[in-house]
Formats: sequence, C-alpha cells, structure tokens
Amino acid sequence: MKIDMPTQVKEIIAVLQQNGYRAYAVGGCIRDTIMGIPPSDWDICTSSLPQETLDALGAQNIVENGMKHGTVTVRRNGQNYEITTFRTDGVYLDNRHPQNVQFVRTLEQDLARRDFTVNAMAYNDTDGLCDCFGGTEDIQRKLIRCVGNPDQRFQEDGLRILRALRFSSQLGFEIESSTADSIRKNAHLLQNISAERILSELIKILTGKNVEYILLHYSGVLEVFLPEIRPMVGLEQNNPHHIYDVWTHTVKTVAAIPPERTLRLAALFHDFGKPDRHTVDSNGIGHFKGHPEVSAVMAEKILIRLKSDNQTKSDVAAIIRMHDARPPAEPKYVRRQMAKLGERRYPMLLELKKADSLAQNPRTIPQKLEYISRLNKIYQNEMKQGGAVTIKSLAVNGNDMINLGIKDGRMIGECLNTLCQLVIDGEVDNEKGALMIKIKELYGSTKTRNSNGI
Ligand code: ATP
Ligand code: MG
Repeated sequence: MKIDMPTQVKEIIAVLQQNGYRAYAVGGCIRDTIMGIPPSDWDICTSSLPQETLDALGAQNIVENGMKHGTVTVRRNGQNYEITTFRTDGVYLDNRHPQNVQFVRTLEQDLARRDFTVNAMAYNDTDGLCDCFGGTEDIQRKLIRCVGNPDQRFQEDGLRILRALRFSSQLGFEIESSTADSIRKNAHLLQNISAERILSELIKILTGKNVEYILLHYSGVLEVFLPEIRPMVGLEQNNPHHIYDVWTHTVKTVAAIPPERTLRLAALFHDFGKPDRHTVDSNGIGHFKGHPEVSAVMAEKILIRLKSDNQTKSDVAAIIRMHDARPPAEPKYVRRQMAKLGERRYPMLLELKKADSLAQNPRTIPQKLEYISRLNKIYQNEMKQGGAVTIKSLAVNGNDMINLGIKDGRMIGECLNTLCQLVIDGEVDNEKGALMIKIKELYGSTKTRNSNGI
C-alpha cells in the first residue's frame, strides 16, 4: 500500500533515515488516509532519541519540546510536526499518567502501547505499511478494538474509554464486543480523569456523526461524569407531543442539531430539568412545567464542573432557558426575544427549537417547523433593518436626555430603557425626532412624580 504523505513529512523522515534512524508517519494520520479523510496533523515516530532527533534535524524551528516524554516538535512551513521516540509507557499509578516512559528499540513495541488497532499503524515509503494489530482489517469492518487486553488497557489509562466512544462517534464505527464489555465494566475509571479531558472528549463524541448510537448504547458510561442522565433514561413523557422517553428524545435532539459544539451541548442539556419538574395530571398526561429554567441552571453547573469556558457556558444556558417559549410569530415578539438573548444567539435558539421539534411526535413536526420558519423570516428581516434594538442602537443617547433637562443618572437610564422597549414593541420609530417627542411626552408627565413613575 502506498500512502501519499506531505512533502514536509517525507523530508523529516528522509533526514532521520539518512542519519541512520528509522522513522515513520504514525497513528491518526495513517488511519485517516486509509479511510480517505484528510488528516488534521501528521505525527512521526522514530528510533532516534530526542537529542539525536534535534541534532539530525537542526535545532532551528524547534517550537516546543516534551523531551522527557520523547517528543520534539518542529515547525515547517507554518505547520507543527511532533516527532516522538519509539517508547512504551511505564507503570500507571493513577489510571491516567504513566509514571515514566521507556524508550524502546522497535516500532512494534511502540505500536503496541497505542490505544486502538486503527490508531496503531505506521508508514514510510521504504517499509510500506506496518500494521501488526490488524488495523486495516478493522477499518474495513468498521470496528474500534483495543490493542491487547482491553481491561488492562483501560486500567492503564481511563481516558481511553472516552476515546473509544469518540472514535466510534467520529468515524461511524462500532465498538468490538470484548472492548465494549470492558468499557462498561471499567467505566468508573473515568472518575480519575480530569474535567478538561472529559469535556474535550465529550464534545468530540457529541459532534461525531455516530452520536445517536453512542448516547443510546453507552449512557451508563456517560453517567459516571453526568449522573443527571440516570433519571432521564426510561422516563416516559405520556404527552401528545412526545413519542420517546426523555433520554431518547434528548439523544434525537442532539443528532438533529448541526454538529457544532455549543449547539450540541445545548441539545444535550436542554431537558435535563425534566425529571425534577415531572407531574402527571388527572388525565394521566405528563407535564414538565418550568423545566427550561431548571435545565439552564443545571447546564451552567455542569459546564462549570467540566471547566468549560465562560462563553460556551452562558450561550448554552441562555438558549436552553428560552427553548420552550412560544410567542406569536410577530415582529414585536421576535424583537423582544432578540433583545433578551442578543442577535448572535437568536439563530442558535431557532436551531435548538427546530431540533427539539424534530425529536417529538412526527405528527406535530410540520406545524412546529412552519412556526420556526416564520420566526426565522422575521429575524432575517429585523437583521436587515439593523438587528436587535438595544440602548446602544437607539437614535438618542444620554446627552440628548441631559439636553432635555433630565439630570439624574438613574432617570436617564430609565428613560433610555423605556424608549428601547417602545421601539421593540413598535410603538415608536427608532428615529431621533420621534424619540425626542416621545420622551418629552413621558418626561413631561412624570416631572411631578418620582423617578419610578416612568
Ligand atoms: P485526531 O485526528 O483526533 O488527532 P489521533 O488518532 O491523531 O486523532 P491523537 O490524540 O492526536 O489522536 O493521538 C495520536 C496517536 O497517539 C493516536 O492515534 C494513538 O496511536 C496514540 N494515542 C493517543 N492517546 C493515547 C492514549 N491515551 N493511549 C494510547 N495511545 C494513545
Ligand atoms: Mg492527532
């Protein structure tokens, strides 16, 4: 088999070989190329020790080195290449970090420490493809399978449990049965994994094409770090809008929303508050009043726990909070929601509403989608006319209020706020003359009252 490597990779390998070492492209880049996917990066492994790698390649353009673990990173043409000495991992003390790494002499030993067969292949033009664990065959069969004994491999490094789910989701592969059994058996090891690593793998699982399969079949694994899922599984909704239990509905919502991190996280958490808000009326119909607020608060807490960045956290919570509101599809109400949520987030809210609808009773879908498309048309139109109305976008400002004789700072704020609401509700145009007349009217009538009267 011939693999077409980028020129830079060929050059790095050639220089190492000219210096008497063995060197290969390895791991994800080989897997992706065999599958016909352009690799995100090219990693290289070599028999040279880190200092020898440096000496062979010349010390210039070395951007960073994890030399203790055998990795030298070189920069060529704006791209980083990691070159790692053949190694095995030493003893694992905490199910995550090898206490030390040992450099080894052969490529085969290096491939044996890698997690899955599809990730344990190497290639160079001299030796061709080195596939000692059946990676090519597993690509053909679409299987994620551990290299070696699954229990041992997961006990060495619990993160591999999530990596297995992640590769299955991204590549659309099934997990081979003994690897799958071992994942379920060892799921508790995820307790030892840092929140940052968990979130990063969770996002990759969520944005993968096979996410529905993974979330449905491995919810018990996710429960180790998201125990909030447990009461959702099997919770029947008994409601004419729904045909699935809360967890299945959630999974279908995730799969229906575009594969972008914020949207997929919002879809995952959007109904987390349902178990807490579950009631059954005298007709046996299930209700979940107030669940969007509870879900939004839960999403915020979970994302703090998983050490998410603040922007993702607040975007996710904001759109979840409003996902179930159903105002009339009229400009005034869309403008109110846009002002509350911000014009950047409004399309995210519509995506969540759409995916949520697609995961409900099929009989109700066309009507719900029609409603969302009307909201979207109004939103598009508002954007053409300058976007969300905010105090900043008003045609008057604080100085105009001062010129009218309104001196008190709090009063100025209230006046601008009132004008903003009036513009949003279509009671006055966002035009300076009209706004000044309006404020004179309001200010005139409130002059004798206290400042709360406006
Ligand atoms: P991606 O396309 O997401 O980068 P990748 O396969 O390159 O996928 P990386 O996390 O970049 O994944 O890791 C590079 C290679 O290192 C893997 O293909 C695998 O061979 C090995 N590897 C990475 N993490 C582990 C791990 N925790 N345990 C064992 N081997 C690992
Ligand atoms: Mg990689």
